[in-house]
Amino acid sequence: MTVPTITLNDGHSIPQLGFGVFKVDPAETERIVTDALEAGYRHIDTAAIYGNEEGVGRAIAKSGIARDELFITTKLWNSEQGTASAHAAIDESLTKLGLESVNLYLIHWPVASKGLYLESWLALEEIKAAGKATSIGVSNFQIPQLEEVIAGSSTVPAVNQIELHPEFQQRDIREFASANGIHIEAWGPLGQGKYDLLGNPAITAAAQATGKTPAQVVIRWHLQHGIVVFPKSNSAARIAENFDVLDFELTADQIAAIDALDAGNRVGSHPDDVN
Ligand code: NAD
Repeated sequence: MTVPTITLNDGHSIPQLGFGVFKVDPAETERIVTDALEAGYRHIDTAAIYGNEEGVGRAIAKSGIARDELFITTKLWNSEQGTASAHAAIDESLTKLGLESVNLYLIHWPVASKGLYLESWLALEEIKAAGKATSIGVSNFQIPQLEEVIAGSSTVPAVNQIELHPEFQQRDIREFASANGIHIEAWGPLGQGKYDLLGNPAITAAAQATGKTPAQVVIRWHLQHGIVVFPKSNSAARIAENFDVLDFELTADQIAAIDALDAGNRVGSHPDDVN
């Protein structure tokens, strides 16, 4: 089955289902990303701060998969914001990944306390113009910060990558993004395994009805909402399970039952607290 693609506001497309490597041990990354590529994933989400870009790069090189069949995202870490540091950071990431360009480069966190994210955004525009990133976007930005970069630059971010899962649905940011042509990517799409997805009755009922697992139901819920999603697992079996979500559909009632689970249950950091 083919992974659906989404066309971003700059005309480039992104595979809607990918593989994330947050907390994937650098020593294990090559093997785990190889498992993901063998399972069929072609979209990998990494970040400078994860410390595993080299392992991602080795897996890509070893795979023999053509560069234009892959979609690779990395992120600018928040201690390195501002123009000069952003240019140095993308060069370092590209060297580690062994790539001439990434498909998507994101500001990882706004770090509003430092007040540098607009300057960093202008640097990302230059990085895109230099051909080092095909698309540029942000992560963990709240609505006022999105408004500020839209007003202060000539580029609307292609994506905003935010914490998003059934118990934390971020409807206000999703509505703002939709109205402004910004595509939403979900991080922590399975709640980082920090709450009991497997036991939630709305999710287990849909899993029973579809013959799928609770994790597959949640990934499908993201896909049917048009959200870009890249669940993480270290296990080859779960990596394959999380990719096997393209052959079924949740009904409107099953989607509505999961929509009703929003409980404001953030499992990661609040963007204001990341400095
Ligand atoms: P996730 O929601 O993908 O959760 C991963 C965890 O869910 C696993 O460690 C495991 O415990 C569990 N899991 C995975 N597959 C399962 C299955 N089939 N059945 C049962 N449990 C399963 O969390 P994540 O890794 O934090 O998020 C996904 C990706 O998002 C990351 O790898 C990273 O690429 C990105 N991310 C970005 C930010 C950011 O600030 N931009 C923050 C966190 C994560």
